[in-house]
Amino acid sequence: MDMPATKPDITKLCVNGQRLWDSLMELAQIGATEKGGVCRLTLTDLDKQGRDLVCAWAREAGMTVTIDRIGNGFMRRPGRNNALPPIVTGSHIDTQPTGGKFDGNYGVLAGIEVVRTLNDHGIETEAPIEVAFWTNEEGSRFVPVMMGSGVFAKAFTLEHAYAATDTEGKTVKGELERIGYVGEQVPGDHPIGAYFETHIEQGPVLEDHDKTIGVVTGVLGIRWYDCVVTGMEAHAGPTPMALRKDALQIATHLMQEVVACAHRHPPHGRGTVGMVQVHPNSRNVIPGRVKFSIDLRNASDALCDAMDADIRAVAAKLSAESGLPIEITPVSNYPAQPFHPDCIAAVQKAADALGYSNMPAVSGAGHDAVYMARLAPAGMIFIEAGCNVLLQAMLERAR
Ligand SMILES: [Zn+2]
Repeated sequence: MDMPATKPDITKLCVNGQRLWDSLMELAQIGATEKGGVCRLTLTDLDKQGRDLVCAWAREAGMTVTIDRIGNGFMRRPGRNNALPPIVTGSHIDTQPTGGKFDGNYGVLAGIEVVRTLNDHGIETEAPIEVAFWTNEEGSRFVPVMMGSGVFAKAFTLEHAYAATDTEGKTVKGELERIGYVGEQVPGDHPIGAYFETHIEQGPVLEDHDKTIGVVTGVLGIRWYDCVVTGMEAHAGPTPMALRKDALQIATHLMQEVVACAHRHPPHGRGTVGMVQVHPNSRNVIPGRVKFSIDLRNASDALCDAMDADIRAVAAKLSAESGLPIEITPVSNYPAQPFHPDCIAAVQKAADALGYSNMPAVSGAGHDAVYMARLAPAGMIFIEAGCNVLLQAMLERAR
């Protein structure tokens, strides 16, 4: 392709919002629920239909499609220099059983809209541009979550992912084969120059601050624990207050401290108790044993460590005062993942230049971008309306 004599001013380039919207609505019809959401679980017939449609759109836009062995898709628009690693964007198109139209789907279709826009204006980029869809981000049918990007980043093996089963005993491998999405490429055997992911915020912060764009600086580290407080079961009537070992009273005290601990580590500390089991769970028996979950999050591993030490110290004090044993067992640990300064800056610059109100944000939930950040400079864009920011941020890296 010959270079035009005068380059169009690409900093003023905008996507076709209506076309993006139309594509989102069309994809949302596959697995549409009566309540206006989408149920398109990974590796089902509906997922195949969704994948087929997205790949067809990519081919219409002149892209080539590569599928790897875990079913991740890479839709590629060549650049002037195809020896350069591609600038990649992407997300997932699988949903939760009660999923929405935008979670994940926006990130993939925004990428396709970026390519359509570049095509409309005949713009070539120096580096190739790719749009990825990652298999089984949601993890609702098969565990673990973020499966495709996790295999790609070698967080766990392909064999481990293949062997995962759903509640009917069907395997990832079998279902991938059934829908025809086992590709040739070895997962991870695919260069990435930089990675951007656009995603709905899944939280209230942008709206609360009346901002359009969240410039995501990183993803919170997550620590999960099981906590058991052991007391003594006894009859509610005959046992005087002074002679009780009431596990629930100590447990509720500690549960409040989980939340207080998060407040002691602002601004990104999070503390949640979401699951409680009381034994024997009987109206007229003093609880002898309480088991509950603890979910602690913060923006760095050091802050997660500090919250860990904080809650353990509180538990030790409560245990010493009450004489009741308290056991805190780690269940899982996802490190905090800061994004790359250059990618954060590209997103920030694009949002400012486009005149979108924006603020720095952290992601409290995991995304495929977490694994990509282990492999390449990565960044995320939280949206109310973010496709133009994606376009400009990708151009910043790809041109
Ligand atoms: Zn998502």
